[in-house]
Amino acid sequence: MTEDLAELKKLEHQTAPFALPELPYAYDALAPHISKDTLEFHHRKHHAAYVEKLNKLVAESEYAKKNLKDIIIETAESAKDKKIFNNAAQVWNHEFFWFSMRADGGGKPTGKIADMINDAFGSYDDFCTKFVDKGVEQFGSGWVWLIADKDKGLAIKTTGNADLLMASGEKALLTADLWEHAYYLDYQNRRKDFLVTFLKHLANWDFAEKNLSRRS
Ligand code: MN
Repeated sequence: MTEDLAELKKLEHQTAPFALPELPYAYDALAPHISKDTLEFHHRKHHAAYVEKLNKLVAESEYAKKNLKDIIIETAESAKDKKIFNNAAQVWNHEFFWFSMRADGGGKPTGKIADMINDAFGSYDDFCTKFVDKGVEQFGSGWVWLIADKDKGLAIKTTGNADLLMASGEKALLTADLWEHAYYLDYQNRRKDFLVTFLKHLANWDFAEKNLSRRS
């Protein structure tokens, strides 16, 4: 198993106290598309805060000895455990987002994922338009995902706030963070510019393709 998928699995199997996963690249690795400031705040303040809050919330709960993935799945439909779900899901979402990007990424993919994109969306350009439009249309905070549906091939979906697709049986391949903290320092309110840049310069297609064969 490659390092990124192994790291993701390691996080899913971790139990409290959870540790903030390290970024898979340096804070300035994605500049100028995502600045060092943005990445540093995002990882060391936002991602770290979800980890800290989750540790506090699960410490005295029935989830104290459960792993991250089980916590997410078991709290997903529970109103009482909504805070635990939100923080646990955000811990996973951010790790998935870090791996969804790389220095010198983006542009048109090749190989199997390229064929699947053409099958599902007609062309890479049509995929880009749809991914950006969906992300812009998402009201408020959330995530835009490229997913693989077992029967129907690739699709684009958005989720609000901390929600994710883990419990639905749809496999995440790639995601972009739509929370303002992900782009505001660099793009202010221009979420569209951020998403266009994500696809053009950052998207990690190797990671997306590897996720096709990941066991959920
Ligand atoms: Mn975020």
